[in-house]
Amino acid sequence: SMCISTQVGCNMGCTFCATGKSGFSRDLLPSEMISEIQTAQKDIGERISNVVLMGMGEPLDNYKNVLRFLELVSSENGLNIGMRHISLSTCGLVEKIYDLADRKLQLTLSVSLHAPNDEIRSRTMPVNRKWNVEQLLKACRYYSDVTGRRISFEYAMISGVNDSDACANELASRLRGIIAHVNLIPVNDVTGTGYRKSGEERLRKFTAILEKRGITATVRRTLGSDIEASCGQLRRRNEQGGTV
Ligand code: SF4
Repeated sequence: SMCISTQVGCNMGCTFCATGKSGFSRDLLPSEMISEIQTAQKDIGERISNVVLMGMGEPLDNYKNVLRFLELVSSENGLNIGMRHISLSTCGLVEKIYDLADRKLQLTLSVSLHAPNDEIRSRTMPVNRKWNVEQLLKACRYYSDVTGRRISFEYAMISGVNDSDACANELASRLRGIIAHVNLIPVNDVTGTGYRKSGEERLRKFTAILEKRGITATVRRTLGSDIEASCGQLRRRNEQGGTV
């Protein structure tokens, strides 16, 4: 499996994200996204069979190029990776979620939710001021109804911000009726954000509340943050004059 980037930097400005802090440089072309996979295949000498569009950038903010990439990557004459082996992650560009649903592509939609209500989400994710939680979840319902696909909700666990029992209960209520799975991700310690990841016990409690309320949830294993080498951290460290 490989996580690829769709832009250099990102316009969305999520406050807990190293990439968001570094700003936006440019969109990637379909050929450049394909080349990320080809280069990795050459490096490791193995075929990549699963792709997640979850690296730098917001895929639906570079929609035309991402759609073309999806055609090329899944084509028998391209990399021949089936749509069911592709996940696309978005922070919630609602109009594009409706458009994507109507294309019935069979890929997995992964939604970066990270908060159960507008108060917390608007504080951490500026996109929520344009499309709020209710509008986003309505679009997600439409997506799973039209495609029959389960939606994966990403939830970065930030100590003291969105990880209380009340947040877990509110999240469970909000997701009722959507075919959903929640991925809990201990947030990366990004220099300058002041955010800290939730502790093991909090993660366990949060997961237990969701499961008790009928929402399946898993805690994602994170790699590389101890050496500032996970999501967006290497680029940021490089920009700040560190050695990579
Ligand atoms: S979390 Fe995703 S959408 Fe938000 S700033 Fe980071 S890369 Fe962009």
